Amino acid sequence: MGDFVKRFKVKLNQESANPCIFAAKIEPMYTVIKRLEISAAHHLCLSYPSKCTNLHGHNWIVTIYCRAKELNEDGMVTDFSHIKQLVKDRLDHKNLNEVLPFNPTAENIARWVCEQVPHCFKVEVQESEGNTAIYEKD
Ligand SMILES: [Zn+2]
Repeated sequence: MGDFVKRFKVKLNQESANPCIFAAKIEPMYTVIKRLEISAAHHLCLSYPSKCTNLHGHNWIVTIYCRAKELNEDGMVTDFSHIKQLVKDRLDHKNLNEVLPFNPTAENIARWVCEQVPHCFKVEVQESEGNTAIYEKD
């Protein structure tokens, strides 16, 4: 870490005499991002008439964000291949209504993916060009 960065961190972590300037803490953090393409079918259960209630398919682009302050004993946040096993291997070329226990909207899929992957804090599910749902933990 360079001297400039060290001085910057120390300065930000100090209490400020000016109440309008609050002290911010910068903590090191690792982030990994895994992007998967999942080809699958689904139909939606909706409270209004929609063509989406018919069985159809998508090539979902799922982007998975994981972070940790410390790396595991293997020097990773979460192994990319484990993320693939937990998500793609369970959904790809499947009927999502048969493998997921909920109405498989992009929003619900994003939440489910986030819950499957260790250290995941954010998931983007792009159902088609221009249609993306994001789930984030606080
Ligand atoms: Zn759909």
